[in-house]
Amino acid sequence: MLGRFWLECPECTSSCEDRAGALSCEEHMGSSLLRTVYQSRQIAFRDDMPGMFRYIDWLPTDKPINVNSRPVTYRSEGLARELGLENLFISFNGYWPEVGASMETCTFKELEAPPTVARYLSSRGGTMVLASAGNTARAFAYTCSKAHVPVWMVVPDCGLESLWLPFEAGEGVRLVSMSRGNDYTDAIKLADRIASLEGFYPEGGARNVARRDGMGVVLLNAVEEIGVLPDHYFQAVGSGVGAIAAWEANLRLIGDGRFGDNKIALHLSQNLPFTPMVDAWTHGRREIALDQERARSLVQGTYSSVLTNRMPPYSIRGGVYDALSDTGGKMYGVTERNARNGMSLFESVEGIDIVSAAGVAVASLVQAVESRMVGSGDIILLNVTGGGEGRFRGDREPIVKEPDVTVDGPDADVEALARELGGA
Ligand SMILES: *Cc1c(COP(=O)(O)O)cnc(C)c1O
Ligand SMILES: [Zn+2]
Repeated sequence: MLGRFWLECPECTSSCEDRAGALSCEEHMGSSLLRTVYQSRQIAFRDDMPGMFRYIDWLPTDKPINVNSRPVTYRSEGLARELGLENLFISFNGYWPEVGASMETCTFKELEAPPTVARYLSSRGGTMVLASAGNTARAFAYTCSKAHVPVWMVVPDCGLESLWLPFEAGEGVRLVSMSRGNDYTDAIKLADRIASLEGFYPEGGARNVARRDGMGVVLLNAVEEIGVLPDHYFQAVGSGVGAIAAWEANLRLIGDGRFGDNKIALHLSQNLPFTPMVDAWTHGRREIALDQERARSLVQGTYSSVLTNRMPPYSIRGGVYDALSDTGGKMYGVTERNARNGMSLFESVEGIDIVSAAGVAVASLVQAVESRMVGSGDIILLNVTGGGEGRFRGDREPIVKEPDVTVDGPDADVEALARELGGA
């Protein structure tokens, strides 16, 4: 007997309950992403739930945690006029009190953390381990502090400045930093090794259905506001989890039946020079061919560091390649200069600062308009994945979480580390 939701493998269509917070099908570990199936085919918008748990019908947990995190969708005037678009909607994920946006960690990673913490609170014990380029760690440090859930976060040197919070991090929040020269992909390797120790469990990244369904709330919120499924979705991607999530939410919303039945074209962007998914997609390849050493140096030269995952879930069944294929998607490479222009354009016409990744997305929308990939009357959803950081820092005094320990590389002695930091 399955409960309110269950997990399904797209490859063998086997279903299982979510008791142990599974990350993959036992038969298809490396090759497929599990998906959540919800018993409610139609979603109810719940006024009695906190923040994003308004959409709990389609989140893999029975118990919400008490946070305000949620996106705000609004119809653009300034940017829409600038680009000659009649139906441009913005999903604002960040801090902007005037429009009701109250994400205190200022990016849409704050949609991944609450359902993940809620999911594992009932299905796993021990200490969660995750890797982050910075923004994910900030969102999880924030949420885990509020929910009193122990977490270890592995962050490369370049991400440390992102580790600010509106309050002192909770007791159970530990930060393992990696010295200069290590990147996000090195952090993933080290986090995997720590997570395999007794008493720890992996957060799961793209394989964690709570993370994807949490990101899916961007589209649920947009459709609640707009009333129908949009024609186009714009987002800057590093791993592409947000894009996979938008696609999965799109399929669920088609199943709901009240919002139309179109597949939303995904318009995804990366920051030059590090554009592995753009390169693979433009060459029609399911595989990403990367020389890891060359990639490492390109990563160092990329302005928007949150977009620099060397091992994104692109080829995997149910991943970015499938999402682009199914929706007739497009990919864009954006220069640093255009990303910066996107940031300042947005701030001047919409009235709030946005992060570099969101600047990349704005620049991709400009490209799409110029090359007529979108029509002036099309319904367009622009995911501003982070914003209002400047505004937040002006209003509040963030506290930086200092590393508890710094290691040299992904092969560090994790058992010694666990002893040093007090274990799980
Ligand atoms: C993580 C992040 C992205 C990329 O998101 P993915 O969908 O996981 O690739 C974009 N913008 C911001 C601000 C982010 O923090
Ligand atoms: Zn399977």
